[in-house]
Amino acid sequence: MIEHTARSLRGRTALVTGSTGGIGLGIATALAQAGANIVLNGFGNVAEAVATIERFGIEVIHHGADMTKPDQIAAMMGEAASTLGPVDILVNNAGIQYVADTDELPVAKWDEIIAINLSSSFHTMRLAIPVMREQGWGRVMNIASVHGFVGSVGKSAYVAAKHGIIGLTKVAALENAQTGVTVSAVCPGFVLTPLVQRQVDALAQRDSLTQIEAQAKLLGEKQPSGQFVRPEQIGQLAVFLCSDAASEMRGSTLQIDGGWTAQ
Ligand code: NAD
Repeated sequence: MIEHTARSLRGRTALVTGSTGGIGLGIATALAQAGANIVLNGFGNVAEAVATIERFGIEVIHHGADMTKPDQIAAMMGEAASTLGPVDILVNNAGIQYVADTDELPVAKWDEIIAINLSSSFHTMRLAIPVMREQGWGRVMNIASVHGFVGSVGKSAYVAAKHGIIGLTKVAALENAQTGVTVSAVCPGFVLTPLVQRQVDALAQRDSLTQIEAQAKLLGEKQPSGQFVRPEQIGQLAVFLCSDAASEMRGSTLQIDGGWTAQ
């Protein structure tokens, strides 16, 4: 784990969608370590995620809003504000993947991916940003992907949503350019979370490979470093984006991808 001693975010409230595991939990951990109070969201092992964050001695709550449901998103934003105070740092991270060629992608999966990976960020942002503007400070980070820049076969809805979130990031950044609110996109390459583990498993099964061989093959196809990006590295980037040094990073799209998009 990267050490971060300064509690530079003490007194701030950070809401991270999809933060019960994977990249979201890595970001929530880094923000908590930097002193922010945390609103977790997502499914699965909630108690373990809360325990991970609690050890930093800050306030933490979990809200189980389903990111496909605008009314549940609004309820979460309301409860966050009434429990921990206005959201100062919004990290739109919740996302899902489903791999199938476009003509074989179930219609319901298209709708679900667009709802979670794109529309949910519109709903959190439209509710959070006016309050941030009133307070004179705010940070919005949209966890996009290398797939905000490039395509990959079998990922049409995902790639469309990630290109879309980069567009949304730029517009919101411009609309708030003369305020204390910045909006940025973070664009990871492969990170070994459950979302990618499913792709490793599918490759291992399809090509009769061990886990290690399948991981190497997946990375070898796309990520020149041959290494996975780690959630805590993305967490530290999020802490940096909250710093004064980042206050003129507006509409930025930040790749952290082992060289994927440099090719
Ligand atoms: P993950 O599957 O490990 O975690 C996803 C999180 O979202 C979990 O907490 C889950 O409970 C939550 N979630 C799923 N559906 C939800 C819903 N309907 N409502 C609320 N929460 C929901 O995924 P991850 O790999 O950590 O991905 C996080 C983000 O990073 C996603 O937006 C993903 O597209 C993006 N990303 C991931 C990678 C990667 O290689 N893992 C690369 C680039 C971008």
